[in-house]
Amino acid sequence: MKDCLFCRIIAGEIPAKKVFEDQHTLAFEDINPQAPTHVLVIPKKHIRGLKEAVVEDGDIIGRCHLTAAQVARQRGIEDGYRTVLNVGPGAGQSVFHLHVHLLGGRDLSWPPG
Ligand code: AMP
Ligand code: ZN
Repeated sequence: MKDCLFCRIIAGEIPAKKVFEDQHTLAFEDINPQAPTHVLVIPKKHIRGLKEAVVEDGDIIGRCHLTAAQVARQRGIEDGYRTVLNVGPGAGQSVFHLHVHLLGGRDLSWPPG
């Protein structure tokens, strides 16, 4: 998707601070961090968001969460971290390439805002 910001990051056309990459997923620092650790994990396949995902996307979405868990382990934030998908503009989704936010390194209140 040439007009998708995160596809362009995957293609190397837009720089990002990569923290992990494998065959299916890419993790990079959020440009506007909301916690000491704020990493975005994206599938290399373009999926617009969770509500557009189909059953065949289940494996790659699971892999995104497993990549988030691996980054959390590497960062030593396993005492408490959060993975978040904002789904739709009403929940704050602003980039329409599915992404898992990994937030940690500070106290996280519940419920989220
Ligand atoms: P969302 O609002 O859930 O769609 O999340 C999009 C996230 O992408 C936000 O937290 C932004 O700060 C982040 N973001 C936007 N542009 C970039 C970029 N070029 N590199 C890294 N993160 C970005
Ligand atoms: Zn995309």
